[in-house]
Amino acid sequence: MYNFEFEKPSTIADAVAALGAEDAQALGGGQTLIPTLKQRLAAPSALVSLSGIPEMQGVCVGDDGSVSIGGATPHAVVAQEAAGSYPALAALAGQIGDPAVRNRGTIGGSVANNDPAACYPAGVLGSGATIVTNARQIAADAFFDGMFSTALDEGEIITSIRFPVPQAASYQKFLQPASRFALVGVYLARFADGVRVAVTGASEDGVFRWSEAEQALNTEFRPDALMGLNINPANMIGDLHGSKAYRAHLVSVMTKRAVLACM
Ligand SMILES: Cc1cc2nc3c(=O)[nH]c(=O)nc-3n(C[C@H](O)[C@H](O)[C@H](O)COP(=O)(O)OP(=O)(O)OC[C@H]3O[C@@H](n4cnc5c(N)ncnc54)[C@H](O)[C@@H]3O)c2cc1C
Repeated sequence: MYNFEFEKPSTIADAVAALGAEDAQALGGGQTLIPTLKQRLAAPSALVSLSGIPEMQGVCVGDDGSVSIGGATPHAVVAQEAAGSYPALAALAGQIGDPAVRNRGTIGGSVANNDPAACYPAGVLGSGATIVTNARQIAADAFFDGMFSTALDEGEIITSIRFPVPQAASYQKFLQPASRFALVGVYLARFADGVRVAVTGASEDGVFRWSEAEQALNTEFRPDALMGLNINPANMIGDLHGSKAYRAHLVSVMTKRAVLACM
């Protein structure tokens, strides 16, 4: 690890000011960033911890019924506090990693990192959530920009994420047991005005919406509606854990399971 300064501000304004320093970087739960630093793959001048900012913590339900989650809220807290207001998202949070990861890793860090096998990007995109930063609000459809890439600007932090709550939703994760990330994960949300299907773990382009499945399910909401629909394996991730064709097949299987869970 290279040397760095450490700051732990208590307001968003102070965090943004500290992140204005050259090569300063935000620190969420450190589950990705700290191992990166240990391997000397990054050399920030300062780490600005977001864990001491009260307004970036916890889950709250708005007057319109939407659920807002503070950007520095650990997964374990989401699993517990969102269980009543948005059960499918709480269940997703409860399936992330192991207890140590869930107690340190944060929703803002996960979404900002946009790992192609992470669970939250599927929950955020599948829900059509809004990413709230210190500077603006970004629709999920405009946020995820390919593997490990997002619409966030330098020094911009996710202060909260606002979720509309669907009539029914389900996250189906096919676990990669060594890493505990998703080999393939499908988040399906059924709203009054349509179905959204977001897929993680599968594509070299990171999380994506499976629009053909959405159209088919909007016509008829049952697993058989997906018969005959196939994902093109060309853009799928292929590695020692699963070939491109295997992942493409898993997308269909997990989507059907999600539909069943929502019926
Ligand atoms: C063993 C292991 C298993 C895991 N399993 C899973 C899994 O099954 N599913 C899953 O989804 N994830 C999994 N993860 C990832 C983990 O849950 C964290 O979500 C992830 O590491 C990033 O969150 P963090 O809060 O630790 O961010 P950090 O590591 O602190 O930061 C990651 C990046 O995000 C930036 N950042 C942090 N917070 C913010 C913010 N609020 N706004 C803007 N930028 C920010 C940082 O600058 C850095 O670039 C696993 C991790 C480990 C180590």
